[in-house]
Amino acid sequence: MRTVLSRRAFLKSSRRAIAAGSLLGIGKPLATFAETGNSPTADGGVAVDYYDKLGVTKIINAAGTYTFLTASIMPPEVRYAVSQAALSPVRLKDLEVAAGNYLAQRLQCEAALISAGAASALTLGMAACVTVANRPAAGDAILEEIPTGIDQFRNEVVVQHAHRYEYDHALLNCGIKFVEVRTMSDYQAAFGSKTVMAHFFNAAEGGEIGREDWIRVAHQHGIPCMNDAAADVPPISNLWNYTRMGFDLVCFSGGKGMRGPQNAGLLLGRKDLIAAATENNSPNSARVGRGMKVAKEQIVGMVAAVDWFLAQTDEGMETKFRGRANVIADSLKSIPSLSCEIFVPPVANHVPHLLIRYDQQRVKIAPLEVAAALRNGTPSIELNPATGTRDASAGLPIDEHTIVVGVWMLQDGEDKIVAGKLHSVLAGAVSA
Ligand SMILES: *Cc1c(COP(=O)(O)O)cnc(C)c1O
Repeated sequence: MRTVLSRRAFLKSSRRAIAAGSLLGIGKPLATFAETGNSPTADGGVAVDYYDKLGVTKIINAAGTYTFLTASIMPPEVRYAVSQAALSPVRLKDLEVAAGNYLAQRLQCEAALISAGAASALTLGMAACVTVANRPAAGDAILEEIPTGIDQFRNEVVVQHAHRYEYDHALLNCGIKFVEVRTMSDYQAAFGSKTVMAHFFNAAEGGEIGREDWIRVAHQHGIPCMNDAAADVPPISNLWNYTRMGFDLVCFSGGKGMRGPQNAGLLLGRKDLIAAATENNSPNSARVGRGMKVAKEQIVGMVAAVDWFLAQTDEGMETKFRGRANVIADSLKSIPSLSCEIFVPPVANHVPHLLIRYDQQRVKIAPLEVAAALRNGTPSIELNPATGTRDASAGLPIDEHTIVVGVWMLQDGEDKIVAGKLHSVLAGAVSA
């Protein structure tokens, strides 16, 4: 029996199968690259544009690094690193150790782990703190008790009321309980025999207790502190500012400002805690992190993204983003009553955003309607989701009368397209 089909026989039989499929009405008939005009890949495969094939609309991202908009586009160096990594199997442990050591050195911290995003970094950092706090009493058994079996163990996390947020869930995934504090004296009194960690949300808009005091008091009680700084680069130096300040663990998203793979992130910090986080992570099976698998392509892509990001400058990025905002602002000068402001949020998404305001008596269209017009146009453009809403978003000073353009995730040339579309929609709504 022949076990290897020739390419031709394969194409023939797959055409037959395809024809059968189309007779049965199963989807559209598939075709070879000769029939579709798809080009061959450099290594002999068929280059298919799967967004087109699936009928998924490609968008212009004038919003920012939002997960629901796939966050960012990897720079060419990162894409190359990802595709090279896909070519060879390796020993995963070798890659994890080498990548961790390399990043620790480049990011000036004791140790580093690449996670499946910042939310995973939060869960693994939390698991690490539970592990380290309970191991003296519980031994390695604690690893398998997370999350459902830790009530009988040390399981409390101290947090400021104003730092409770949607990513609490990433910590709750470890079975912990929060102890909330508001004042410094609450905080001093919150530490007990069950405390395992003090958590800080770096971009929180409230909270009486600052970073340095948060760290100092926790350390007086021998408790580690974790900082969620997921969206808080640039500035580039934040990659080491918070570990140097004394946070024992710091989390970053890999797919936001660093433009790594969207499903990658960083957990940086103390050697013993990163080691415990690694024990709680995939590929170990009976662990809370098993579902947070990080593939070789993500690991390599994350390392390449850090290299790419460290080769940028804050000034260079800011100049580029301001340039785009100005292109859009300049194109809207002729719209009556309209004014533009460039705004840089203080902590998260700390990059220029363009805020556009106008008198809706003169320009008779609401910001939400403008957003819908751009979304439904060709090409489809997504404005920042803070457009036309009062919901607090990413430190932006917003209201229902403002259009917000996030320019930092635009690709070269797209500023002009966004400018043209905004101009035509707004000019078309000017009252006579
Ligand atoms: C985006 C974000 C996260 C999650 O990051 P992922 O990389 O998408 O997992 C966590 N915390 C904060 C504050 C964020 O902004």
